[in-house]
Amino acid sequence: MGGKAIIFSAPSGSGKTTLVHHLLGIPELNLAFSVSATSRPRRGAEKDGHDYHFISPQEFVERVKKGDFIEWEEVYRDQYYGTLRSEIERFWSQGKNVIFDVDVVGGLNLKKHFGANALAIFVQPPSIETLRFRLRNRSTETDEKIAMRLDKAQKEMAYAPRFDLVIVNDILQDALDQAAMKVREFLSS
Ligand code: ADP
Ligand code: 5GP
Repeated sequence: MGGKAIIFSAPSGSGKTTLVHHLLGIPELNLAFSVSATSRPRRGAEKDGHDYHFISPQEFVERVKKGDFIEWEEVYRDQYYGTLRSEIERFWSQGKNVIFDVDVVGGLNLKKHFGANALAIFVQPPSIETLRFRLRNRSTETDEKIAMRLDKAQKEMAYAPRFDLVIVNDILQDALDQAAMKVREFLSS
């Protein structure tokens, strides 16, 4: 069981990272995390090479020109994020499935790129108010950055129907169970 792509997309604060970490902890799913490159600063306990490859905006632009990315986006102003071709090739050559945590546009681009080998999941927060509460509670962004993320979230919600599956992340345990069940089903199909 390997060579497939599991894509998680959602507005920031919906719970993608929480769901992805849960799935990575289930050995039978044989998942490896696609570490994206970003030009945003490191936050909290994030580690370079583990959460992201943190690179400068200049290096990011150079690597775009070299064709290093399968997809990339300026997700927020002056903050670039991209999926590295080398990450996916390395994991697939090891017989692993790759799991992605990307924004909604990136998610749809990856779905197009991988075709039937991909399951694209949209994680939906119960409401924008809940999203605001979770982002404040997470305490990793300034009020200004939270406002920017919430503004973008309103637009991103409209993309949900274009994904293979929508998981509403209200009661966390239910969302974790549903994600594990759907991913298991897809990988064994
Ligand atoms: P994302 O990766 O989509 O930005 P996170 O996984 O970082 O989102 O989740 C945002 C915050 O909300 C985190 O502090 C996380 O612990 C919390 N969280 C995630 N899911 C739930 C849930 N179902 N109920 C309450 N809090 C949640
Ligand atoms: P954060 O700054 O909260 O880590 O991420 C901000 C947004 O960028 C999230 O929606 C996250 O999923 C997205 N993101 C992370 N890596 C990539 C990537 O490689 N490509 C795209 N398109 N988005 C990404």
